[in-house]
Amino acid sequence: MNTHARALPALRESGKPLGKSSALTEKFRRLGITRREDLLLHLPLRYEDETRVTPIKTALDAALFGKGEEEAANSVQLQGAIIDCQIQFHPRRQLIVRLADASGAITLRFLHFYPNQQAALAVGNQVRCVGEIRQGYFGAEMVHPRFRVVLPDTPLPESLTPIYPTTAGLAQPVLTARIDKAISDTPLSETLSAEFLAKAGLPTLWEALVFLHHPPADANAQSLAARQHPAWRRVKLDELLAQQISLRRAYRARREIGAPCLAASGELAAALVRQLPFDLTRAQRRVCAEINADLCAPHPMQRLLQGDVGAGKTLVAALAICQAVESGWQAAFMVPTEILAEQHYLKLSGWFEPLGVEVVCLAGRQKGRTRAARLAAARAAGLIVGTHALIQEGVDYERLALIVIDEQHRFGVQQRLALRQKGKAPHQLMMSATPIPRTLAMSYCADLDVSVLDELPPGRVPIRTRLARDGRREKVIAHVRRKVAAGQQAYWVCPLIEESESLQLKTALETHARLTDALPGLRIGLAHGRLKSAEKQAVMAEFVAGKIDLLVATTVIEVGVDVPNASLMVIEHAERFGLAQLHQLRGRVGRGAQESSCVLLYAEPLSPSARARLKIIFENNDGFEVARQDLQLRGPGEFIGSRQSGLPLLRYADLEADADLVETARALAETLLARFPEKADQTRERWLDEKEALLKA
Ligand code: ADP
Ligand code: MG
Repeated sequence: MNTHARALPALRESGKPLGKSSALTEKFRRLGITRREDLLLHLPLRYEDETRVTPIKTALDAALFGKGEEEAANSVQLQGAIIDCQIQFHPRRQLIVRLADASGAITLRFLHFYPNQQAALAVGNQVRCVGEIRQGYFGAEMVHPRFRVVLPDTPLPESLTPIYPTTAGLAQPVLTARIDKAISDTPLSETLSAEFLAKAGLPTLWEALVFLHHPPADANAQSLAARQHPAWRRVKLDELLAQQISLRRAYRARREIGAPCLAASGELAAALVRQLPFDLTRAQRRVCAEINADLCAPHPMQRLLQGDVGAGKTLVAALAICQAVESGWQAAFMVPTEILAEQHYLKLSGWFEPLGVEVVCLAGRQKGRTRAARLAAARAAGLIVGTHALIQEGVDYERLALIVIDEQHRFGVQQRLALRQKGKAPHQLMMSATPIPRTLAMSYCADLDVSVLDELPPGRVPIRTRLARDGRREKVIAHVRRKVAAGQQAYWVCPLIEESESLQLKTALETHARLTDALPGLRIGLAHGRLKSAEKQAVMAEFVAGKIDLLVATTVIEVGVDVPNASLMVIEHAERFGLAQLHQLRGRVGRGAQESSCVLLYAEPLSPSARARLKIIFENNDGFEVARQDLQLRGPGEFIGSRQSGLPLLRYADLEADADLVETARALAETLLARFPEKADQTRERWLDEKEALLKA
């Protein structure tokens, strides 16, 4: 194919049988390339145009005069004869070459060079080189251009030269040669029908790949760069299709696995509901029914429960747990922080113990005899609540049939998997207050069933959010004093210092000291991440019991904490927090019947993005709306902890820019799986290979 690239001198190295060199194989492996398909799907980052030669004088004029900065940085291809070639030793050893054509001459400079390169650049040789022209120490020059020796009539290549992502020690020409060989072999078979492709205006996958590896010189550079060319869209569609097929397969495979049937009479759940001082919301009832249907099915549930902060997800989980316990099985409830574990333990044991169900808490660094006793109790308890201590080695459950994962985006896929492996195909309920945007839900979560709690319990007085400049701190402190005098409690969230844990601790201690000075007579507690877990629990217990008026805290209280009598939240330096974090923090108040408020203290000057965040949180109380706007501000990458989700990220498709392709892929996956399963397999296998194992987690 690209004979041009093949003739480059460096490529002689690649004349060796590639497959046998294990060092080289290792480099390819580092790029994720182990099979022919991987080579074909290793697509260029960008292209260089070597289809044209620019006269040296024209290139010099364009680079050094007249034209703007941007164009000066573009690379050009020159061709001429070598008229001088010398090694210089000052200021350091380097090879200085002069290249001349009919229009002018230019210096080529090499700081590192091999003898064979020096030989190739011998005076009299005709050379073609590609690089950027810069004004250097020796005048206009190209430093380390790519070059090759040609004959005056060597034809120019007809297609653009691909530049591939590569890794240290793997030269472009070596990679290009391998890919070209893969491309010159038999075409990949097409999995989509000709009618579909014609209607969608897309090429076959093979055509798309051939095109993208070597686009013709007149290809639309812009649509190539933006990756919106039909060839790019065909490739991205294939990638999304493979993802959909894989997730659908996983979904179906799960239906083949037997799971404990938790079809109890519902007596325990009814008893729990009877002892509550309130009724379930309609949304809670609907979601409970959805979950119940899953628990009665003979295969494991994998359901995501989304609901804004305060929507009452814990109770929904508790009712599912009732089904497990009443059926004679155990449930485990995993939460991301120790404070939350303690909170949930208190709440859940308050609900369950009157019903005769044993609840055990596993959190933090319990040691020695306490730990042994807890582990023994956990083996058989009806409900085990805890942090990732639940998945540690040595923790076993006799009959684990349901796992609940709260704030699921805080956990990595490995942790969720580890908990699942503590049981035999247990049912899984994952909960999150961070709404997952639609395209993300459709792609990465396509193997989950989703329930939404779209209603808050009645009687909640909406939280009033206020913004206050830092200068008005005295007024805010006076407000705290008034609230406490009226018998209410408040949180004061310390400024966030992400870079340094010790600085964060210092800030927390200082904030606590300052407020203690400013508010004599108030009982002020402090909760931060460096406290021992027993200390943390003690502080929280005092706050819950009303023995602390004002709780100064870091973001350790961010998720889940539920103290209904706390009705005021002050967040210092609110401009440093992310939107999801602000919404979660604000959700710690507004849990009781009294009117709650959240004061966002901010320091000026505000950056434009901080200003945008504060405006959104000020104007919106609804978590789904906050998340939607957050997605617009930050893009989809940051959501559902996709960084730690463990899923192979999409290489080419962009959920935002290619949202329409996500929809198409979803529909196509259904068709292929139903009517052409072997084509579905082909698609999946060429993209996913062994990485796919993780997708099933
Ligand atoms: P989240 O969805 O954020 O996890 P929680 O489960 O912590 O919310 O519930 C918030 C508060 O609302 C808790 O105090 C809980 O007991 C209470 N709650 C839950 N369901 C209802 C309901 N149907 N009516 C009134 N209060 C409820
Ligand atoms: Mg919660």
